[in-house]
Amino acid sequence: MLFLLLRWELLMSDPTIPEGRAELRQFLSKATPGKWDIYEDADDPDEQSIAAGDQVLTQITEWSGRADDAELVVVAVNALPALLGALDQTETELRHTRNNLDQARYGRTQGDLAIARVRALADEWDTLPCVCGYRIPNGNDDSSQCLSCAAEDLRTSLDGTS
Ligand SMILES: [Zn+2]
Repeated sequence: MLFLLLRWELLMSDPTIPEGRAELRQFLSKATPGKWDIYEDADDPDEQSIAAGDQVLTQITEWSGRADDAELVVVAVNALPALLGALDQTETELRHTRNNLDQARYGRTQGDLAIARVRALADEWDTLPCVCGYRIPNGNDDSSQCLSCAAEDLRTSLDGTS
């Protein structure tokens, strides 16, 4: 009877987090270097082997899984560096995008606060009596306005109705 022990550490590498990608890169760095390939014997196409660089790792006939499984291992090993690099780059871009979004939100908030301060000022000026006569017919025909009259212009400007 064959007892198999599961090596949990091999299953724990989460490529979606930097630590997991570092673990996967360690597995890559410890494995046989070079591009992995499947070769077939020139005389017997059924005799296939997995090679890393110029080193034959196993004959697929000795591989207890299906040939499709062996192909998956080879293509996964070859694709892993690019996948890890793409995930690193995506995470970096996501971080930049989030920073930009935070800055945009902060800028919008600051703009909203500034507009609120100007509205409060217009509200305050509204409570003042008109001292320029601008609103009084024939009261003042030059363009100078008191604060009370300017409040209305300020508000229409803020509302975009001027
Ligand atoms: Zn006035």
